[in-house]
Amino acid sequence: MSDPKCIFCRIIAADIPTKKVYEDDHVFAFEDTNPQAPTHVLIIPKKHFAGLKEAEAGDAELIGRCHLAAAQIARERKIEQGYRTVLNVGPGAGQSVFHLHVHLLGGRPLTWPPG
Ligand code: 5GP
Ligand code: ZN
Repeated sequence: MSDPKCIFCRIIAADIPTKKVYEDDHVFAFEDTNPQAPTHVLIIPKKHFAGLKEAEAGDAELIGRCHLAAAQIARERKIEQGYRTVLNVGPGAGQSVFHLHVHLLGGRPLTWPPG
């Protein structure tokens, strides 16, 4: 369920301090330490799995819950004019932490395509 070596599992367990934004039975959200926008929140499932390509059919609801939590946070922060949810999948796309996480980015104009 959790991996003691995983930095995000340790954040969920409060072994590593973080600025919590949201928590429920399935999902945990916290401020990114290196924000790329005025709002940069990471939303993660409490269950450890490495990323989207490692996800299984049984993880579908959890992935959806992460996105719905992102939408709720965006609503609360009044950034619904335009925000982005991002999953970096694999090192070639910049994934550096191997516990699935949804980036919620907003509060500034977001260009397309991303780099
Ligand atoms: P990735 O590059 O894997 O898509 O995203 C990992 C994100 O986690 C990065 O944006 C990075 O700034 C953030 N991050 C890495 N370590 C920590 C940490 O210990 N605490 C917090 N709050 N964010 C972290
Ligand atoms: Zn983990």
